[in-house]
Amino acid sequence: MVPRASTARRGVDGRSHASSLARSRAAVVASRPAARARAAAACGRSPRRRARARAAARDDRLDAVEGEDGDGDDVDARPSSIPRNEGVRDGAWARADAAAVVESIRDAEATASRASRVVDGESFALLGLTSEELKQFAVDRGMRGFRGKQMADHLYAGDGASARDVDDFTTLSKADRRALVDANVRVGRSRLHHVAQANDGTAKLLLRLDDDRVVETVGIPADERGKRRLTACVSSQVGCPMRCTFCATGKGGFARNLAPHEIVDQVLALEAHFGQRVSNVVFMGMGEPLLNVPNVLKAHEAMNREIGIGARHITISTVGVRGAIEKLARAQLQSVLAVSLHAPNQALRETIIPSAKVYPMEDLLQDCEQYFVATGRRVTFEYTLLGGVNDSVEDAKELGRLLYARNLASHVNLIPYNPVDDADFKRPSRATVYAFRDALESCKVPASIRQTRGLEAAAACGMLRNQFQKDAIGGGDATPATT
Ligand code: SAH
Repeated sequence: MVPRASTARRGVDGRSHASSLARSRAAVVASRPAARARAAAACGRSPRRRARARAAARDDRLDAVEGEDGDGDDVDARPSSIPRNEGVRDGAWARADAAAVVESIRDAEATASRASRVVDGESFALLGLTSEELKQFAVDRGMRGFRGKQMADHLYAGDGASARDVDDFTTLSKADRRALVDANVRVGRSRLHHVAQANDGTAKLLLRLDDDRVVETVGIPADERGKRRLTACVSSQVGCPMRCTFCATGKGGFARNLAPHEIVDQVLALEAHFGQRVSNVVFMGMGEPLLNVPNVLKAHEAMNREIGIGARHITISTVGVRGAIEKLARAQLQSVLAVSLHAPNQALRETIIPSAKVYPMEDLLQDCEQYFVATGRRVTFEYTLLGGVNDSVEDAKELGRLLYARNLASHVNLIPYNPVDDADFKRPSRATVYAFRDALESCKVPASIRQTRGLEAAAACGMLRNQFQKDAIGGGDATPATT
C-alpha cells in the first residue's frame, strides 16, 4: 500500500504522546471512564462540540489532502484481473487457514535460523547481517575482524553502489574472495525482473528471488519541506495466508516467508533504481509481517543500523496475529506499529477479515493497549474504505467512539479501496471518504486520507506481482505477461 506523506503524531486534544512508560500505563488504566464520557459528548451528541470539531477537522483536512490527486481524473482505477490460487477459498476462517498460519510461523523460524548460521556446504547470504555480525563472521573464517566492517561497507553502500557479488568486495584480497566463493557464501541480492513506473514518480519493482518466485516492492519519492524523501513499501512474505477479502496478495495464497536478505534487498534495489537513499520504510507490501517476526526484526536491525534508516521512520503494518504484538513489544522498537482495523466492530470485521474470527477485535485492541504500555509508543490504525461496506458516517462514529474511549485514538489512516478485481468491492466516492473523515474527527480521533499514488503502475499491493506470476505459489514460471 502507498503511505501518506506525513504521519501526524498528535493525539486526542493535541496532547503529546511522548509520555514516559509510567504515565502511559496510568493513562491507559485511568482515563477510560472519563474518555468514554468525553467521547459520548464529542461524538454525535452535542451539536456545539460537533461544530467545533468540524471546524478543526476542516483545517486539518487541508493538510491531509495536500498533494492528493486533484479531482481524481489522473487516477486509473480500473480493476486488474487477479488469478486466484486454487487452494484459496472464499468464506469463513477454517482449519486449513489455521494450519497455514501455524506453518507460516514455523517456516519463519526455520528461515531465520538458516539466515543466521553458516552450515558447511550450504549457500549463505551476507546481506542482513550487521557490522558486528560480519566481524564475527570474518573472524570465524580466519580473516581479520576489520574485514567484516569492510564487507558491511560494500553491502550497504547504497545509491546503486552496494555490492551484488562477493567479487565486488574490492577491499578484500583475491584469496579472501575466492575462499568466500568456495564456501558458497554470497551477497544475497535478488534480480530485478520488471519495473513499472507511474507518472507521479512512484515505481514498483518486481524482484525475482533465488527460487524464481517474485515479490514486489514500491518506491514512493516525495519532497517534504525541501527534503527529498524516498519511502520503500516492502514485502515480508511471498504471498500471504491471511485472506483479507479485498487484498490482491491474499488471493494468490501463501508460498513462504522472506529471509532478512530478501527484505533488505528491496531497500537496496529501490536505492539503485532511484539513485537515492531510502528515508522511510513501511512493511505494507505483500504478506503479513507478524507471521514472519524473526526475519522482519533482523531486516529492521540491518535497515536501522547499517543503512541508517531511523527506527521512527519504519512502520510495521499488521492485520493482527495472536501473540505476535507481544513479541514485537518485547523487541522495544521505536518504530510505528500500524494495525489494519477496517471495521468498527467485530461482526463487520469478521466479514472483511476472515482471520478476525480467531483473534477477536476486543483481544486485538487490548494487545494494542498493552503495546502502548510496554513501549510508550501508540499504535496507529489503517482503515480501508470499501464502498457501501464499512464507509458510512455511522461506521465512522462507531469507530471514533471505540478508539477514543479506549484511549487508542492515536491516528487513523483512511485508505480508499483500490479495486483488485471486478467482483468484490467498490471504491467509495470522494464525498463519502471526506464525510467519514469528518465524522471520525468529530469524535476527536485524528485521521488522514491516504494519498493514492502510483495506481497506474498496477494499483494495490500484490496486483503487479499477480499480473506476472500467474501461479502465485509456484516457482519458475514468472514470465512477463507484457513487456
Ligand atoms: N498484512 C499487513 C500488510 C498488508 S498491506 C496488514 O494487513 O496490515 C498494507 C495495508 O494495505 C493494509 O492495511 C491492507 O489492508 C491495505 N490494503 C491491501 N489491499 C488493499 C486494497 N486493494 N485497497 C486498499 N487497501 C488495501
